[in-house]
Amino acid sequence: MAIATINPSTGETLKTFSPLTDDQIESKLALAESTYQEYRQTTFTRRGEWLNKAADILEKDTAKFAQIMTTEMGKTYQSAIAEVKKCALVCRFYAKQAPEFLANLSLESDASHSYVAYQPLGIILAVMPWNFPFWQVFRFAAPALMAGNVGILKHASNVPQCALAIADILTQAGFPEGAFQTLLIGASQVKAIVEDDRVKAATLTGSEPAGMALASVAGQQIKKVVLELGGSDPFIVLASADLEEAVDIGVKARMLNNGQSCIAAKRFIVQDIIADRFESLLIAKFQELTIGDPMDENTDIGPLATSTIRSELDQQVKNAVAQGAKILIGGEPITDRPGNYYQPTILKDIPLNSPTAQEEFFGPVALLFRVKDLDGAIALANNIPFGLGASAWTSNPEESDRLINEIEAGAVFINGMVKSDPRLPFGGIKRSGYGRELSSQGIHEFVNIKTVWIK
Ligand code: NAP
Repeated sequence: MAIATINPSTGETLKTFSPLTDDQIESKLALAESTYQEYRQTTFTRRGEWLNKAADILEKDTAKFAQIMTTEMGKTYQSAIAEVKKCALVCRFYAKQAPEFLANLSLESDASHSYVAYQPLGIILAVMPWNFPFWQVFRFAAPALMAGNVGILKHASNVPQCALAIADILTQAGFPEGAFQTLLIGASQVKAIVEDDRVKAATLTGSEPAGMALASVAGQQIKKVVLELGGSDPFIVLASADLEEAVDIGVKARMLNNGQSCIAAKRFIVQDIIADRFESLLIAKFQELTIGDPMDENTDIGPLATSTIRSELDQQVKNAVAQGAKILIGGEPITDRPGNYYQPTILKDIPLNSPTAQEEFFGPVALLFRVKDLDGAIALANNIPFGLGASAWTSNPEESDRLINEIEAGAVFINGMVKSDPRLPFGGIKRSGYGRELSSQGIHEFVNIKTVWIK
């Protein structure tokens, strides 16, 4: 994939970039390594000041950064503004909390004094996707930098200007040159970087194939990896739920980021006795959505990020129909305008043993399933290779307890949509990946948990 800015709402190529040469990569790694040796000695106070300054820059130039995102990957400008603000929040969160999260932990043993010290590892590689092009990077960078690591970023090839802007923000904020660098490289250049002795660990947010490729190389090198991969999250609505609210939030949860979110509600699993009503409300809400220019504040749904994503999504919908699914609304690309637009789509009657029932739909397509009862809902929710975040709607505490205990996912949200929050850990199980980001758990992924024993 060429490294380029291609506006998804017009198809116009605005800027192209040459991938770094091997020599250029070597200089960046050498700089990262030499910076690390000094940076690891800096205090939490100093790192926190720089991170708070990064938050100031994000808050001051929110509009500029939001515009870069919308131009490169098509999310609505309003949601891009919210994303920049959330990045500032995660910077401030870790600037404040890291000293507490990483404080020495005294533990009793046969020593006169024994404790755990959390020390940095060195250069950490982040391979990131385009869908939340600022947030995914800041949620890695803020804890990694506070822990005393240095970061190198291989961002998705369609968001190079986001990648450059992020490194610039952190340098402007005062972090030493080399503490966080963007490497404009293609996916095929990642392997050699993971194999480089100076690189100590890696994190990847993206698809299963990318996760498998990175983890295999890292496995050969015995290097730690965090993987945040795809999902086909359930959105369970039981008869006891507030139906109107569940539909309202369900539409938001499916359409977040033009349908391109790992934690979007993808499979709507609805109890039989309320399913007709749920279905007609969902159709009505989908029909009300405004599709258009993502820069327009009235737009609910902009284009998909690339033309390939659109054609793959369309193929998935056609395959679903061939496998027996019915289209309730939508089901086609929007072709009367330029750009990668796709109709909001609802599929039902999806055979449970079909590939469609097991796949992630990364776009504005909802899959609708009916179940008899709570047992059926839990069984269907779990009948998937993924396990990222489940949303479940009920007013019955016993149902709620069972959903919390029995759903196989990294998160369960009761009567709310799945979202990330700096204060709460985020991550998946099964083929959605392993490891956690955010909160205290996130900052502990890339540290040496060193045991100290003193006689
Ligand atoms: P992708 O193709 O896997 O790309 C993600 C990143 O991995 C990009 O930087 C890409 O670079 C790189 N990459 C691709 N193949 C690689 C390889 N073989 N070796 C090393 N790096 C490689 O993912 P996507 O399609 O852009 O993103 C959508 C997927 O990400 C969905 O499945 C979504 O659910 C998942 N996602 C998960 C989370 C989470 O937190 N769990 C969050 C967001 C998205 P190029 O761009 O150069 O190919």
